[in-house]
Order: sequence, then structure tokens, then C-alpha cells
Amino acid sequence: MRDKTRLFARIVGERCQGHARCVAIAPELFELDELGNAHARLHGLVPKGLEAKAWLAKANCPELALDILEQ
Ligand code: SF4
Repeated sequence: MRDKTRLFARIVGERCQGHARCVAIAPELFELDELGNAHARLHGLVPKGLEAKAWLAKANCPELALDILEQ
């Protein structure tokens, strides 16, 4: 990964079933709304130092509802 590459997390809302695994792994990056659906914090921007948590959350989403974009 290039040094200036930024990661963005995105939840595909219609796939999210609210297991909250992403929130348990990376509460800095994800939160649940009042219906239990996940949303990315910080407009999806993954701060430096939290990249590994973002990838781990993606790997642990059983609904494949979590995308990580590299820009
Ligand atoms: S782990 Fe996946 S399905 Fe579960 S709340 Fe997070 S994004 Fe939604």
C-alpha cells in the first residue's frame, strides 16, 4: 500500500443484518443506528493506524456488507 493511500469504509446497507461484529472489532470506525444497522463513522475515512482494524472488520462481516476502498 502506498504511503498516501487512504482507506474508506462503506457499509452496503441492504446487506447489513446487524450482527455488530464490525462495531465490536472497530468501534472507532463503525456504529449502529437505532435499528441495529451499521454505519461508518467519520464519513468512512479510516484514520492512519486503524487500517488493520478496518480490514479485520471486513473479513469478519458474515454478510459481505462491508467494503474497504483504497484511494
Ligand atoms: S458485521 Fe456486517 S452485517 Fe454485521 S453489523 Fe457489521 S456490517 Fe452489518
